[in-house]
Amino acid sequence: MTPNYPVRVRMAPSPTGYFHLGSARTALFNWLYARHTGGAFILRIEDTDRTRFVADALQDAMDSLRWLGLDWDEGPEVGGPHGPYFQSERLPIYHEWAGWLVEHGHAYRCYCSEARLGALRRAQQARKENTGYDRHCRHLTATQRAEYAAAATPAVVRLAMPLAGETSFTDALRGVITFDNRQIIDPILLKSDGFPTYHLANVVDDHLMEITHILRGDEWLNSVPLHVNLYRAFGWEMPVYAHLPLILDPSGVGKLSKRKKKGEGGEELLTYIREYRQAGYLPEAMFNFLAILGWSYSADTDLFSREQAIAAFDIPHINASPGALPLSKLDWMNGHYIRQLSIPDLTGRLAPFLARDLGIPVETLAEDPALPTLAPLIQERLKTLAEAAAWLDFAFVAKLSYDPQMLIAKKLDAAGSLAALEAAHKLLAGLPFTEEALEGPLRDLAQELGLKTGQLFGILRVATTGKEVAPPLFGSMIALGRERTLARCAQAEASLRTLVAAESTG
Ligand code: GLU
Repeated sequence: MTPNYPVRVRMAPSPTGYFHLGSARTALFNWLYARHTGGAFILRIEDTDRTRFVADALQDAMDSLRWLGLDWDEGPEVGGPHGPYFQSERLPIYHEWAGWLVEHGHAYRCYCSEARLGALRRAQQARKENTGYDRHCRHLTATQRAEYAAAATPAVVRLAMPLAGETSFTDALRGVITFDNRQIIDPILLKSDGFPTYHLANVVDDHLMEITHILRGDEWLNSVPLHVNLYRAFGWEMPVYAHLPLILDPSGVGKLSKRKKKGEGGEELLTYIREYRQAGYLPEAMFNFLAILGWSYSADTDLFSREQAIAAFDIPHINASPGALPLSKLDWMNGHYIRQLSIPDLTGRLAPFLARDLGIPVETLAEDPALPTLAPLIQERLKTLAEAAAWLDFAFVAKLSYDPQMLIAKKLDAAGSLAALEAAHKLLAGLPFTEEALEGPLRDLAQELGLKTGQLFGILRVATTGKEVAPPLFGSMIALGRERTLARCAQAEASLRTLVAAESTG
């Protein structure tokens, strides 16, 4: 459904909080449509609600978009011919168009005080009526208006909605939608502090920025009749609307909450893109995951590349019905994308996570030859980059700390385990540290000692890594190097000797 005119879509976040999963899905679908059609993706900041402003929300939105690879063609830090791209810098434009509506009889200035509106609401409540503006100022005479204006009485501008009838529009996903005009009572377009409301600024900007398609969350569906009446009042052509399906909680019941709550299996449900990033999800996986929230690439697979998504994406393929967040697929997808990485790429991505989680400067890690040796050993096992620290910490700490009881192999006592470790230690001291050179002699040693390889390797695993479950043993020892491996054997022997002594006295 590529139109025969240039497509222009936009993402219009309000900097009232961090960029969340639902916003990212909206941004992604707009971006995909722009890239699919060769059109433009515009970023516009809807920052007219001064009371809800969050200082670092804008930076967070831009960081999140860039991390996901959703570059914008016009907007903050990029510029473009339709700026400014911050609504707070466009106030004169909204004043001009609100004034135009008043002059042409589509809107009016309302001078009602907070006190009057409060009294009206209380009276309506007392009579058990629906509350809402009584259109008092819609009927002021020219003289009354002149008096208010002369007295510089603060005013808002309200849209003069049709008093009866219906407003219909076609949503590209949901078909024709009809609203009763009486449900919308002359909403405010311009506030008395000179800031526009969302409705005026949104419609004026979508028109002036030549937006052709609006893909946005379905919480905006109820605003469309108002927007349609604004487009009509201005005599402007309407963009195509497509309201994206609601993302439901992973359980399939209820809306995905922006707040934290327990997700599937009782684990924490992450809300913001920054949280997914910090939890060690790859942008490739997040991109893929977000794309399946209401769209599918093919019936056969959920895995697809950025290029495949661009080639296949189209508005009619979006599923209009709400769907549960398929959270259980995310770890699986992430594991898939981790396995696709080259070792240098994986190492580069692991370094900041290990640095953060182990408290080591990232430069030190990036230069440590252990990392490229260890990364391939855990690549298959990782579901997130943040899991790496628990696997690899042993290679980056000076001294291990673990329960010495773990050194005692199954069916052996402390003395037996000590003897086995001492023999292995002696053998290791004379072997080259390569996989081929280590494996055979250590297996032979186990046999000589009358042990199962699992028993001997288990002791060595704990001695060298401090863990019973660790990356493959020889690779781990090679990453540590001979000197550190031998020092750890010595440390473990000392611990075992203490246990032996305790056993004999106890
Ligand atoms: N500023 C609105 C938001 O934060 C934009 C809604 C729209 O796309 O029209 O979601």
